Amino acid sequence: MVAEKPADSQEESKPNDVLSSTQQVIQLALDKLGYPEEAYELMKEPIRMMTVRIPVRMDDGKVKIFTGYRAQHNDAVGPTKGGVRFHPNVSEKEVKALSIWMSLKAGIVDLPYGGGKGGIVCDPRKMSFRELEGISRGYVRAISQIVGPTKDIPAPDVFTNSQIMAWMMDEYSRIDEFNNPGFITGKPIVLGGSHGRESATAKGVTICIEEAARKKGIDIKGARVSVQGFGNAGSFLAKFMYDMGAKVIAISDAEGALHDPDGLDIDYLLDRRDSFGTVTNLFEDTLTNPEMLELETDILVPAAIENQITKENAHNIKAEIVVEAANGPTTLEATKILTDRGILIVPDVLASSGGVTVSYFEWVQNNQGYYWKEEEVQEKLREVLVKAFNNVYTTSQNRQIDMRLAAYMVGVRKMTEASRFRGWI
Ligand code: GLU
Repeated sequence: MVAEKPADSQEESKPNDVLSSTQQVIQLALDKLGYPEEAYELMKEPIRMMTVRIPVRMDDGKVKIFTGYRAQHNDAVGPTKGGVRFHPNVSEKEVKALSIWMSLKAGIVDLPYGGGKGGIVCDPRKMSFRELEGISRGYVRAISQIVGPTKDIPAPDVFTNSQIMAWMMDEYSRIDEFNNPGFITGKPIVLGGSHGRESATAKGVTICIEEAARKKGIDIKGARVSVQGFGNAGSFLAKFMYDMGAKVIAISDAEGALHDPDGLDIDYLLDRRDSFGTVTNLFEDTLTNPEMLELETDILVPAAIENQITKENAHNIKAEIVVEAANGPTTLEATKILTDRGILIVPDVLASSGGVTVSYFEWVQNNQGYYWKEEEVQEKLREVLVKAFNNVYTTSQNRQIDMRLAAYMVGVRKMTEASRFRGWI
């Protein structure tokens, strides 16, 4: 996963501050839907935000205290749901924005959830397995009172995986004194995980690419695809595109990017990649991430972190379609520039919703104690994503607005209605 520092992530009200830009689009979406100001006042921040301090005994014998967060945006529709990221740039504002995006995703794919998100300020690439177990368990102990299978259900996100979910589930089951698989999703299959969950985000992105390419008259076979980020979403996506006959001409990770106009050998790169998604360090002839974004390509997929396409480089993007597999990779100014240039942007809250969709399937299976076959998961995921894509696309066409605003309008509606019925606004 690309780990460059997201611009301005820690500072107040900068133009690229993900929280304030999300709030702007939420306000616009609620205005267009005709909701009163109270709706915006409720939606602009999470209803609950917890900051915790997690002591972990490190391998050198000393105790280090880490800061973590859990944000619950809105639980009018149902329990809140969303991942936990381990990253040195995690901040309170970022976690808040990410929890709002989870609410929007749940609305767009019509899940019975609100949005939540968690994060710990740490660098897992510099921690041992034992230290990672300690921080994962410590985090669950610290937030245990506000989470649970019918309250708030965590999942993987940047630099967290099924092993971390397993430790977190085990810790919660100890606190709760019974085995509780529905507490968390993204678990290993043997602990109640779902088939298809690991690749679900990339599958969802692939379905969005297929739908967007159809609208633009692009044939995936032979199309040039560039993927920024080689973590969970980026690596699976590159593989799916490669297997579908697209030419994956560029990939990148935190260290740099690889480019071959004739298409890269994705199977080879997947084989060489480390567990954090780094592979470019094995090559001499690399590009930088900003250079890679500006390459001649048909489909560009930012699958790394926030604020990668900004007003500085939006004029130089050459793709016809930008599909956001990462959360928040394009700023609002850049969205406008790309849209004015006729580039179709499939926004993060739609494109990356495959992960939470299969998380929902996992939770349903845990609640039923009855497990589905891989094909069943894939079929249901496709049905949900095709419907969501076309719902957002039609809204954008009918209202003559970009796909981001359309997605926010679709995403915000259910939780606003639910909040109204509950008498909150
Ligand atoms: N972290 C993923 C996301 O941002 C998945 C969340 C989940 O599965 O609950 O959508």
